[in-house]
This record gives sequence, structure tokens and C-alpha cells, in this order.
Amino acid sequence: STPVLEVRNLTKHFPVKSGIFKRSTAAVQAVTDVSFAVGAGETLAIVGESGCGKSTTGRALLRLLEPDSGEVVLDGEDVIALSPSRLQGARRHMQMVFQDPFGSLNPRMTVRETLMEPILLHRVASGPAADKMVSELLKTVGLNDYHAERYPHEFSGGQRQRICIARALATRPRLIVCDEPVSALDVSVQAQIVNLLQDLQKQFGMAYVFISHDLAVVRHIAKRVAVMYLGRIVEEAPAEEIFATPRHPYTRALIEAAPKPVPGAAEGREMVMGDAPSALRPPSGCAFHPRCPLAQDICKRERPELRAMPSASGTAAAACHFAETVAAMPAESTRPTP
Ligand code: SF4
Ligand code: MG
Repeated sequence: STPVLEVRNLTKHFPVKSGIFKRSTAAVQAVTDVSFAVGAGETLAIVGESGCGKSTTGRALLRLLEPDSGEVVLDGEDVIALSPSRLQGARRHMQMVFQDPFGSLNPRMTVRETLMEPILLHRVASGPAADKMVSELLKTVGLNDYHAERYPHEFSGGQRQRICIARALATRPRLIVCDEPVSALDVSVQAQIVNLLQDLQKQFGMAYVFISHDLAVVRHIAKRVAVMYLGRIVEEAPAEEIFATPRHPYTRALIEAAPKPVPGAAEGREMVMGDAPSALRPPSGCAFHPRCPLAQDICKRERPELRAMPSASGTAAAACHFAETVAAMPAESTRPTP
């Protein structure tokens, strides 16, 4: 089946002044050559440390940030090539849910007004049909008419995120980009929101691009996972394979560093690596080489291409000269002896 979303070679670099007199211009290589596809009703998670380019990717998909180049094909139409007026129309089909549900709601608008805005803007409904739609949207996300005349500050963080999700649903989009949608919420509320997102996907069949640094959440919701490092995808595979047989040393390190879901299990161990280098001057060759326990000389010289790898249940790719070796290592045992 044709994917709902196909992203090809998406690139976004931010120019910055550098050098002691700020006379030279360099570029923060926020997103370079990112490609992936998402099927209808499926969730692709994009994971990585802060600054890896995952949020920039999410915003570029919706052209909230203009990418430098690349294609974002939604239902066969390249969103990047659309004129501003046609883009406005296409926005109906792609919505976003942000990390901060308070900051993304207008504090002066009631919930009814907040939900009415996209319904009227995109001419989804009008008059009594629009009122009915607001009621239904509230019910869909576990709220009710009693909440409609209230303002954002009267709600808890989880309820506010429900309002943001209802607003995203209002136009019946084909795609919702969720950028860390539960990271700002109490742990007890996170599961409720994740479950709500999953239920809504089953009900309405939209695709999600789910951006997160939290592997425990990703494991729960994603069908496929793309791992980003310094602006590039370094591994992409079905979710269960990412966790069972990671093919890239960085993916392994992320999994090892993640807090374990089992009560009483060891706390998240230290990452094998130091801080991430800057996307302003990515290291030569494989950008991960200064932190990689498996790095060899070739890694400093040659950037490994993202290449197809064997996969038991789909397609997989990794950008590592030694991906076969990494894939053959037993799970949960990084710190390989050279
Ligand atoms: Fe590590 Fe080399 Fe693979 Fe990069 S290419 S991840 S440095 S082993
Ligand atoms: Mg971010």
C-alpha cells in the first residue's frame, strides 16, 4: 500500500555567524538528508537526544519551518512545493501536537473557541453542525460539554493535552506530528495520553510521527522507529527489532541508558558516551566516532551511508561501517571489548 507520508532527503541548515569577529558564516546542520515513510494508521517514532534534529524535522514536515530542500509527500502531494494558499488548504490534512500543552493554547480562548477555530478555518462544518462537532470532539478525548466554556488555566496538564489533541483532530487529518506530547506531563498521566492517542488512531486511522527522547514511551506506541544523531537518521527499523537487535552503536547506547520499565530493575545506567558534539561542526567521517566504543580508523575518514540491512519483519537500515557486527551482539550488552 502507498504510504500516507513519504519524506525524501529533507534538509534544513541554520546559518550562524561564527569566528571571533562573527565574520564568517557557518551552518548548524540541524537536519540532513532525512528520508522515511509512514503508512496509514501507523506510527513512526523519531528518537534521539535533544539537539539531534527531531523537532526541526517535525516542524519542517508541516512547513512551520521552511526546509532548505527535500520532499514531503502527503497523500501523493509534495507539501514543500505548494504555494502559500495551497499550503493553507493542505494544513487541514496535517496537524501537530506539541510538548507544552499550555504554551500551545491561547489563554484568552475558551475550549469551545479553541476547537471552533480549525473547524471554521478549514470549513469542516458551520452553524449547529460545528457546535455538534465540538461536543463530539470533547467526548472523543474524554472531556465533555461542561468543559467547553472554560479557559486553559482551569485545566490540568493532561486535560490541556486532551484539548490540544481534540484541536488536532478537528480537521480529520491524515497525519499528526506529535512532538514530545507527554514529556511535560506527570508519569501517571503519560500512559493515559499515550493510550488515548492509540485509541484515536484505531478509530480514525491517521498516521503519527511521534517525536520523543523517551524510549519506554516509544516502545509502547511505535510500529517503526527512526533514530537520529546530529541531524541524520542513523538507524531505522521495526520497533521490536530496534529494541531486540539494534544495528547501530548509538541505538544500543540509547537503549542501555533508558530507565528500565521493570520495577526494581537497575536505574538507567550512564551512557557510554560523553556529551553530543555540536551540529555546527559535526565530527569527520561517522559523526558518532568520538563517542563510539567500536570506532576504528575508517570511522574518522568515511561517513557510513544509511544502508539496507536484513530485517525479520519489514525493512531496516543503519549507518555504521560495522552494523553487521553490532546486530550480531547480544542485546543489552554494549561496552564491547575491542
Ligand atoms: Fe561507531 Fe564506526 Fe559505526 Fe560510526 S561507523 S557507529 S564510529 S563503528
Ligand atoms: Mg525537541
